[in-house]
Amino acid sequence: MSTNHYDVIIIGSGAGGGTLFHRLAPSGRRILLLERGDYVPREPENWSTRAVNVEGRYQTSEHWRDQAGKDLHPHTNYWVGGNTKFYGAALFRLRREDFGELRHAGGGSPAWPIGYDELEPYYTEAEHLYQVHGERGVDPTEPPASAPYLHSPVCHEPRMQQLSDDFARLGCRPFHVPLGVMLDESDRRRSKCIRCATCDGHPCLVQAKSDAQVVCVDPALQHPNATLVTGAYVARLETSASGREVTRVVVEREGIRETYSADIVVVSAGAINSAALLLRSVSDQHPRGLANGSDVVGRHYMGHINSVLMALSKCPNPTVFQKTLALNDFYFGAPDWPFPMGHISFVGKLDGTTLSAGAPAIAPGWTLELMGKHSLDFWLTSEDLPDPNNRVTIDRDGKIVLAYTPNNGEGHRRLIKKLEHLMQQQTRCTVHGDGCHQGLFARNLFIGQRIPLAGVAHQNGTIRFGRDPKTSALDVNCRAHEVENLYVVDGSFFPSSGAVNPALTIMANALRVGDRILERLGAGRGEAVRTREAAGAPA
Ligand SMILES: Cc1cc2nc3c(=O)[nH]c(=O)nc-3n(C[C@H](O)[C@H](O)[C@H](O)COP(=O)(O)OP(=O)(O)OC[C@H]3O[C@@H](n4cnc5c(N)ncnc54)[C@H](O)[C@@H]3O)c2cc1C
Ligand code: SF4
Repeated sequence: MSTNHYDVIIIGSGAGGGTLFHRLAPSGRRILLLERGDYVPREPENWSTRAVNVEGRYQTSEHWRDQAGKDLHPHTNYWVGGNTKFYGAALFRLRREDFGELRHAGGGSPAWPIGYDELEPYYTEAEHLYQVHGERGVDPTEPPASAPYLHSPVCHEPRMQQLSDDFARLGCRPFHVPLGVMLDESDRRRSKCIRCATCDGHPCLVQAKSDAQVVCVDPALQHPNATLVTGAYVARLETSASGREVTRVVVEREGIRETYSADIVVVSAGAINSAALLLRSVSDQHPRGLANGSDVVGRHYMGHINSVLMALSKCPNPTVFQKTLALNDFYFGAPDWPFPMGHISFVGKLDGTTLSAGAPAIAPGWTLELMGKHSLDFWLTSEDLPDPNNRVTIDRDGKIVLAYTPNNGEGHRRLIKKLEHLMQQQTRCTVHGDGCHQGLFARNLFIGQRIPLAGVAHQNGTIRFGRDPKTSALDVNCRAHEVENLYVVDGSFFPSSGAVNPALTIMANALRVGDRILERLGAGRGEAVRTREAAGAPA
């Protein structure tokens, strides 16, 4: 056996691949993690809104195309830890109902081949592994959980508390966002997290964000049998003559072609790149792309309908860490609208510099700087439905093409209206009276920007799992129906996207698939339990 042969190769070190690497490393088997990026450099620019949001210092320079053939610069990041290095670490479970079929105004959201209960133990484990700070029983749509969060929720700063009180007074049930930050509010001096203003969208300079590199990849590398190769772009997967096993993983590294092999190969390059990799890996045995007899690979791309909405008021919003508050009261509908609308929460506090990177038109009488100082910056997410024509393909030049026609927009529009209505009823301000909030809304200073196609942060759905090989590429354990040693564990397995942030579901599923792989490797139940204990979870 060559030295380039491993028990398992994992491609991509983000939420899916990084978590799986952590799960498998204590097994003693030879595990190789191939990551096209490098470590994010630790430097002051990590926390510079200019460097991150205006200059795009950490974003890929890669360009894709849209369906019209126009150039598309994706807002995505290729580094150890994947997009979790930049995420806002809002770590939500999908709702129990999201696993079943749901009727939306814009059509049907299909059922998953597994129910919530099958993923539940892994959600708990993922929450513990990623040190989620939260509180059970406060989110009105949250599904049942088998264990409490290990860390108490991140508290609101005064402006957020005031808003939370207003929402509660208006009959809503606002709650604290479950967050993967290593904050100890009882001992701020020793706390790793300093609760800064540059979390969402930025790498954490002090390594206190629970991202896949800090929480999973680095600890896994303590095991001598676990190896990480960075700068390793996986160009293609090749199979045996029968087409039933992947036999070669073809890598381009520093301009040189290398090949690796493994008993099991796991693709976790993110929903768009994973689909692209399978589509690039065409062969006589797989003429439509690897594991794509069903022709679903690349299809059903989803990314959520997301909007950033700034509510301006005359009073400043001095909040530093804004991403603590959420509302799910309209997730499944409202008395006046029986269809799902989605989720309301926050982005990190916007500042004038970030706003200068092409965000909203300047409100009359305001500067960007002032707007940043006075805004509440909402993040609204609604479910987009899996349309086979919303898809990833590869063009003649080998470039990724992302075709997407938005759907299911009415629920999102109504969600915006609900928020507008709530904001118009905020408590009368003692300084400006009604003119502080309500008047501003009346003057249309509620400024919204729908996230454009390049905003692929929540990408999912392109290699769906299912029971029927005619309509899915992966089986219920995320193994390719047509290729015995090929698995996929990033966001591509989602048959529907729900309306909460996707990362915790990707992490939980990676742990679930990890157990199937451990069984297959003959690691045995005892070893799998020890692996869970090593992950910090109750056995
Ligand atoms: C700014 C921002 C904020 C976000 N906030 C949240 C949030 O608060 N909560 C939440 O749940 N989600 C959030 N997300 C989304 C979340 O980060 C993703 O859902 C999650 O990281 C996806 O995990 P993944 O494993 O599918 O892919 P990624 O994490 O993207 O990992 C894929 C990895 O594969 C590597 N790769 C790609 N192609 C190849 C190749 N050919 N060869 C080798 N390696 C390859 C990439 O470099 C990357 O490291 C946010 C994302 C962004 C960008
Ligand atoms: S210090 Fe805390 S708030 Fe700041 S980036 Fe790190 S984890 Fe986020």
